Amino acid sequence: MTDKQYPRRAILKGALSSLAAIPVVALVGRADAAAAKVDPADAQAKALGYITDVAKIEASNTLYKAGSKCSNCAQWQGKPTDAEAPCGIFAGKIVAGNGWCKVYSKKA
Ligand code: SF4
Repeated sequence: MTDKQYPRRAILKGALSSLAAIPVVALVGRADAAAAKVDPADAQAKALGYITDVAKIEASNTLYKAGSKCSNCAQWQGKPTDAEAPCGIFAGKIVAGNGWCKVYSKKA
C-alpha cells in the first residue's frame, strides 16, 4: 500500500516544485524589463534628443519648455511620481521621470 502512495506523493512533490519556480521566472523577467533603460547614446535616443535629466538641457535648446519632463508627458506610462517608467516612443524600454526628448507632449 505504501508503494502505491509513493509515486503519487512524488508526482505531487514534483508538481509543487514546478509551481514554486513559476514566480521566480516571472520576477526574473520583470527584473530584465526594469533594467532596459533608454541609453541616451542609442541612435533613436540621440535623434530625439533624449536626456535623463532636464536640469542638464542646454540653454540653446529652443524646443524645451520649462516644466516639461517625461513624468508629465503624454507618452509616460507610469504614475507622475515614478522615477522611471515605460515610454510609448521607446518601445520595451523605460525612461527617467526627470528626462525629456523632442517629441514631448504635455499629458492632458
Ligand atoms: S516621449 Fe515623452 S516620456 Fe518619452 S522620452 Fe520623450 S518626453 Fe520622455
